Amino acid sequence: MSKIAIIGSGFSGLAAAAYLAKAGHEVHVFEKNEMLGGRARNFTTENGYTFDMGPSWYWMPEVFDKFFADFGYKVADFYKLVELSPAFDVVYGPKDTLSVPDNQEALYTLFESIEPGSAARLKQFLLEAEFKYKVGMDKLVYKPGLSITEFLDKDTILGALRLQVFSRFSDHVRKYFSHPKLIALIEFPVLFLGAMPQDTPALYSLMNHACLQLGTWYPMGGFYKIIEAMVEVGKRAGVKVHTNSAVDEIITKDGKATSIRIKDSILDFDAVVASADYNHVESKLIPSAQRNYDARYWEKKTFAPSSLIYYLGINKRVKGLRHHTLFFDENLLQHSKEIYKNPQWPSKPLFYVCCPSQTDDSVAPAGHENIFLLMPIATGLTDSEELRENYFNVMMERLQMQTGEDLRPFIDYKKSYCVTDFIADYNSFKGNAYGLANTLMQTAILKPKMINKKIKNLFYTGQLTVPGPGVPPSLISGKVVSGLVTNYLTH
Ligand SMILES: Cc1cc2nc3c(=O)[nH]c(=O)nc-3n(C[C@H](O)[C@H](O)[C@H](O)COP(=O)(O)OP(=O)(O)OC[C@H]3O[C@@H](n4cnc5c(N)ncnc54)[C@H](O)[C@@H]3O)c2cc1C
Repeated sequence: MSKIAIIGSGFSGLAAAAYLAKAGHEVHVFEKNEMLGGRARNFTTENGYTFDMGPSWYWMPEVFDKFFADFGYKVADFYKLVELSPAFDVVYGPKDTLSVPDNQEALYTLFESIEPGSAARLKQFLLEAEFKYKVGMDKLVYKPGLSITEFLDKDTILGALRLQVFSRFSDHVRKYFSHPKLIALIEFPVLFLGAMPQDTPALYSLMNHACLQLGTWYPMGGFYKIIEAMVEVGKRAGVKVHTNSAVDEIITKDGKATSIRIKDSILDFDAVVASADYNHVESKLIPSAQRNYDARYWEKKTFAPSSLIYYLGINKRVKGLRHHTLFFDENLLQHSKEIYKNPQWPSKPLFYVCCPSQTDDSVAPAGHENIFLLMPIATGLTDSEELRENYFNVMMERLQMQTGEDLRPFIDYKKSYCVTDFIADYNSFKGNAYGLANTLMQTAILKPKMINKKIKNLFYTGQLTVPGPGVPPSLISGKVVSGLVTNYLTH
């Protein structure tokens, strides 16, 4: 039995731990924070609210099904999943809101009503998105991306042209749709992957299949239910977890990691899996000569955005607000440029409002609402209380246009979260929220590698490696790295 240390307890670390324990190893997870879950932690307030701190969109449910099935369980053994109907709302302006239905026929009718002829084109677009999704899931995402040879099988090569790796997502969308509302609706999942549609390969229209065809789901009790379930699966397989345990150093000898250091204690291991932010692990935990990538490499990378977040308790019910509402009532391109091209606080931000209490009574006291505001911003911005508050008021005023009332007098809980918190809590590079953007030059074999080239038993996993940002990819990343570790330990 080998002894394996996992650094970090987000989705990737917990998944890797569970698979490695199931493979028969002694696995220890070390988490710097008091609570497990990484970016998907939650917190409960004294006045009865429970806030998920990070993810809120449950897409690609079969990835979760697959994880639990690998251990002989079903999702329903741990949490109840409900499909949201409508899936989400998009606000284009005052009294101009589009509810995105969860059923296909209603979606086609909606498209047709906005742009005549677009229903047929949507069918074509989604057929292609489904093809990409299937090839992606079957042939691409469960591979470690160490070499191009992993992708050289007949079906993948034959499908490569249809995968449209080299065409731009924004051009692809405009071949099918011309109405700005439809373009914004189709481009939004890609923005979630953290890049401008102009810089994203058309391959990623596979996300439209996930978003518009596979449904938008919600785990009752909140996203933290998934973390609790994964911790439980890991514990049943024998995983030991250690919170308040920031790893300060990975000690190496003769090209191998021998131990980790936590304050003054040194613990020996046969292999180390780092699921904490890649840059932090390389710049703070190992000697500089043994890094895969230097500081210049990270400076050149396109990071997914950071975010300004507000967690709000509202002491009354709010009308006119869905579980998910996207405020696309300002110029998408302008905001994207202010995130990626010319990083600055946005002049006219787009933002997102999550109100899980519309679906789930357990996350707020009776008669109250739980509201989460998220405004994507560039990484590395100077972040101050005054700036946060200015944007808070911008978002609340736009929310007021939607709900017809100013909710600020009804706030009975308020907490903000931004760049400096991401850095302090997760050792996040420049305060990134979701890792690296999925641009062409940062896809598959071009992502940071899962194996350290100079320390043969040090592995990396998580949203900065393959397959990329988001909960399902991080979960897959944990599975993929566990295969690499097992391979190393058995050869
Ligand atoms: C605000 C927000 C909203 C999001 N919304 C969605 C969404 O709706 N849907 C979706 O699919 N995805 C969403 N995401 C993305 C998704 O949450 C992440 O991609 C995923 O949770 C990342 O998991 P991970 O394991 O790679 O990293 P993390 O969750 O960051 O885990 C890494 C862990 O390592 C720990 N750590 C760091 N340094 C050390 C150290 N030295 N020693 C020990 N531990 C250390 C950190 O504390 C952390 O717990 C969102 C993310 C954020 C931040």
